Amino acid sequence: MSDSGVVEINGVTKRFGPTVAVDNFTITIPDGCYCCLIGPSGCGKTTILRMIAGHETTTEGKILIGGRAVEGLEPSERGTAMMFQSYALFPHLSVVDNVSFSLKMKRVGKAERRERAMTILTTVQMDHLADRVPSQLSGGQQQRVALARALITDPKVLLLDEPLSALDEFLRLQMREELRRLQNEIGITFIHVTHTQPEALALADLILVMDEGRIEQAGTAREIFDNPNTSYVASFMGGWNVFQGEVSKMANGAAEIHSPTGEEYHLGRSDIAVGANIGFSIRRDKVHLVRGKTDGPSKEANCLSGEVHAIEYQGTWVKITMAHGAKSELLVANVNEAEYFVDPVGLGDAVEARWKAKDVHLLRP
Ligand code: ATP
Repeated sequence: MSDSGVVEINGVTKRFGPTVAVDNFTITIPDGCYCCLIGPSGCGKTTILRMIAGHETTTEGKILIGGRAVEGLEPSERGTAMMFQSYALFPHLSVVDNVSFSLKMKRVGKAERRERAMTILTTVQMDHLADRVPSQLSGGQQQRVALARALITDPKVLLLDEPLSALDEFLRLQMREELRRLQNEIGITFIHVTHTQPEALALADLILVMDEGRIEQAGTAREIFDNPNTSYVASFMGGWNVFQGEVSKMANGAAEIHSPTGEEYHLGRSDIAVGANIGFSIRRDKVHLVRGKTDGPSKEANCLSGEVHAIEYQGTWVKITMAHGAKSELLVANVNEAEYFVDPVGLGDAVEARWKAKDVHLLRP
């Protein structure tokens, strides 16, 4: 078995009857990478994980782990281990016996099994509860045991299917940190399926944003968040207002765009063809809100007036949703908390949203 945990997925498609669960999926996940797969329900995340693990076959394409094609290999022969959302612990076995179970199957002697299990339990800080049974553990503790049980097989690749989704918010954040710490410490490849954007952003070296069985964008957390390629990625990852419109002219190095609902926008690029239909976006924290309606000149080329539709206090910022235009479309501004409280607007107040042409981000069709 190769020592490397590099996972190459080459043109993999998976069909279940008429359903295309995974559609010509190609990516190389480097050895030692923390990779998160994120996408809406049913987009094929779990199917990818199961095909890597060997719990599902591919319809087309190839998967290589550590440079070796894994088609036809049993899950136990792939150098992977899977940690399930449900933990799937044996209720009648103690923690240490749960963890050492796979070694027992491999006929490893009792003393060595216990020693190896205790070493892994120490890594996940569960050695002090080794003799309890799962019903005597909290959700977070059960999860650590499940993690230890996956790691005892000494995998090159750990596959995690929504590992944090059963935990309450506080524990989830704590375990999130621990997963990252553990991955750094042991240095193997982690492939982690999640529904939760902040989770992917916080953990991943490489994020794969998926839609309908395909990769919509692959990149680092910062690339994905700050430089989304498409309207889908910008909307799905959050933090952006997304628009569509037609470029009507170029002036002063910026494109003037008209939306189907009649608004005018300015985008600070001169390389877009007049007449093109484009998607573009502005980060919520780049939108400034001004009380009332002003006719004076503005440093910011973009300006929309409307009224406050919703206000949500978020601690360090305040999320203000403004309704604008004949169809009451919604635009969100994340306003710095201290700035907001200088002169707080209320529901229904007239406001103007402004942003600079240079901050507008062009999206791919
Ligand atoms: P979720 O986030 O809800 O777990 P997912 O992104 O992990 O979703 P998958 O479980 O991979 O999605 O499913 C992808 C598609 O394949 C879905 O349309 C699903 O209904 C279908 N599918 C998955 N497994 C099977 C199966 N064994 N038989 C038939 N269809 C399946």
